[in-house]
Amino acid sequence: MNKIFSAPASFEAEHSLLSLAANETDTAIVITDNLGKAIYVNDGFTRMLGYTSAEMWGKLPSAMVCGPYTDTETLQRIRQHVSSGESFRAEILIYDRWGKPLWISAVVNAVKSEQGECTAMVGVWTDITNTKMHEVLQHKVLHALVREAPILGVMRLICTEVERIAPEVMISIRRLDEYKRLWTLGAPSLPADYVKAMDGLMLGHAIEDCEIPGLEGQLVIFAEQTPDSFWGRQKDLAQECGLVTCWWHVIRSSDGCTLGTLAFYYRETRGPDNLHRHLADVSLNLCSLALEREASKENIRRLAYYDGLTGLPNRSALVARIESLLAEATREGCALALLFIDLDRFKQVNDSFGHPAGDTLLCEVARRVKECLGKFDVAGRLSGDEFVVALMPCDAGKAVARCESIMAKLNGPFTIGPTIVTPTASVGIALFPQHGDSVHTLLLHADMAMYHAKSKGRHRYSMFNPELNRISQENLKLERALREALHNDQLQLHYQPQVRLEDESLHGVEALARWHHPDFGMVPPERFVTLAEERGMIADLDHWVIHAACGQLRKWRCLGLAIPHVSVNVSPTTFSDQAFPGWIARTLAENGVCAADLMLEVTEGVLLDTVSGAFANLNAVRDLGVRLSVDDFGTGYSSLSYLYRMPVAELKLDKSFVRELEYNESARALSSAVISIGASLRLAIVAEGVESDAQRRTLQAQGCKVAQGYLFARPMEADKLTAWLTCSPPPASVCRS
Ligand code: C2E
Ligand code: CA
Ligand code: CA
Repeated sequence: MNKIFSAPASFEAEHSLLSLAANETDTAIVITDNLGKAIYVNDGFTRMLGYTSAEMWGKLPSAMVCGPYTDTETLQRIRQHVSSGESFRAEILIYDRWGKPLWISAVVNAVKSEQGECTAMVGVWTDITNTKMHEVLQHKVLHALVREAPILGVMRLICTEVERIAPEVMISIRRLDEYKRLWTLGAPSLPADYVKAMDGLMLGHAIEDCEIPGLEGQLVIFAEQTPDSFWGRQKDLAQECGLVTCWWHVIRSSDGCTLGTLAFYYRETRGPDNLHRHLADVSLNLCSLALEREASKENIRRLAYYDGLTGLPNRSALVARIESLLAEATREGCALALLFIDLDRFKQVNDSFGHPAGDTLLCEVARRVKECLGKFDVAGRLSGDEFVVALMPCDAGKAVARCESIMAKLNGPFTIGPTIVTPTASVGIALFPQHGDSVHTLLLHADMAMYHAKSKGRHRYSMFNPELNRISQENLKLERALREALHNDQLQLHYQPQVRLEDESLHGVEALARWHHPDFGMVPPERFVTLAEERGMIADLDHWVIHAACGQLRKWRCLGLAIPHVSVNVSPTTFSDQAFPGWIARTLAENGVCAADLMLEVTEGVLLDTVSGAFANLNAVRDLGVRLSVDDFGTGYSSLSYLYRMPVAELKLDKSFVRELEYNESARALSSAVISIGASLRLAIVAEGVESDAQRRTLQAQGCKVAQGYLFARPMEADKLTAWLTCSPPPASVCRS
């Protein structure tokens, strides 16, 4: 049996055991008389607070241990309990005999006489500095973070709590900006002059050079510090301000990045004690948490309000800004203009050069738009290739002038790989207050005006007018009707002969889509092809055309008509689809025509596309035996080098050059160059849009072998072509329709 638990031999023995217990514990025990004056303290009390039993005798303990930051309300409450002889518990910041602060938890019990009067109080005090520190500091700061308190408030809280716990410390918390400069977030007790002088200084090597272990920190003594160190940079000022040493740390993020610094300054030559180390440890974690949260909030804000690609405000930020401009315009009674900018043929750039190139172009456009902005103007990216600019103050006349200058700016050359493109845009303008008084109405109306500009042939602007509301409705109807027409086989194909100039024999025919709608009448191909491109129906349209053309060719063959081939127009979107070559092979087989009977007309962009499926498809289609023709040659991109590498059989000299042949020296030079390139690469050249004999003679003199145009025949229905062909020999003048 353990001796301690055997019955005490005598009263003396029991007393000595009790005093052993009382003195060997780490808790402080203090007994006071009925007036609250100390009559006993144990050794634990002396160890904790430095006061001996003799020193405490007859003193009020609360008076001995209170200090500059002891909470006066709690003190008051304790004194009331003592004077009324009631038991109580309390937590309070006290100071030892050397002024070091510590948090204690006191449990004080009243000892009562038989009559119920308080004869003494027994207090048991436990040092809870460490736990209290976590609680006070951590709890309050975490609470503030949860409440989304602003970063400066959170930092101020850390500073005050640290300095409350360790009043000899003057804390500073600084944040590192993207240029490696430090800015003060909190330094409530440091002299303002010093704080100001340190702000914005480059941390420079101080952080990268020394791998400061989290808790160790670095101690700087201002009287000794070499002048090149960051902390010593203002050492004279520091000394003038009475700062003697500085113990500093790097605040790091969870992944080790430097976020800022935490420094404890002292007015005496000293380093940190255990309490300070502990405080620094807790504060570093809290600072890191708060700064990281701030960074991610900032990031979220950027993501939420800015377009990640161009850095322009996104739709929601733009709407908010325009709303506030509108409010201001209403207050000031001034006008505002919204420009809705949509790049022309941006899809083609994407399809031809790949999405990274498209992205680069969008960034460049954003940069150019920004350069056009005045002080109060706002620009943003709505989506894809749509940008919006709000101009204020701005009336109709000014809007048009500004719009023209933005369009001119956008039209500057831009290099994509080996190719130079000159971006163009279609712009719609809506004015406040005439065309609407809310952001949404104005955007809608500017959008309609933009559509109108686009349908008028791109690279134009158009001002909203109420008539456009009707047109927009009509476009919607047209879209619906086109879907229906495609679905119900209501389109037709017309065929235009391509004629060999030497003997007017047939080189081939080009199939051109025609749409006659019972309500809308003849819809021009430019209109419905563009609509199909914009509304995602172009592949259906192209498939329908190829199918119908192959079917027709077969019929002609059955009739014994010698039609060398049929050319069809294929849009880049259709062509770049991975499944396209397989689909072509099946369509040829289904219609019983061979690959050599089909010529696909593609635009230059398709040949330059090295990223999307178009590149692979060029070879796959060629391998099938289907030939490729470059349509509208000369209007697209200014790179010819691709022609050497590409599996191309034919170039179609664009009709805009042919039209100018008689009057324009450059057009003649260009057509001559195209014809000789064709000859040297063994490509057939087909001149498009030949309308006059003079054009025909010029082309022929330049060595052009094949032409297509109203001079020979207009596009015509299949039956008419049969008739046209059977007029033999075909005197062009008679058969022209
Ligand atoms: P494109 O491929 O350049 O077609 C030639 C256009 O020039 C046709 O216009 C034709 O009617 C016209 N044309 C022919 N000879 C002359 C002439 O002597 N003078 C003038 N001024 N024009 C002439 P169309 O049929 O209105 O087609 C316009 C455009 O619509 C075509 O230009 C083509 O890009 C597109 N398109 C037409 N049909 C289809 C189709 O089935 N699929 C696709 N993807 N696009 C098509
Ligand atoms: Ca064509
Ligand atoms: Ca053409």
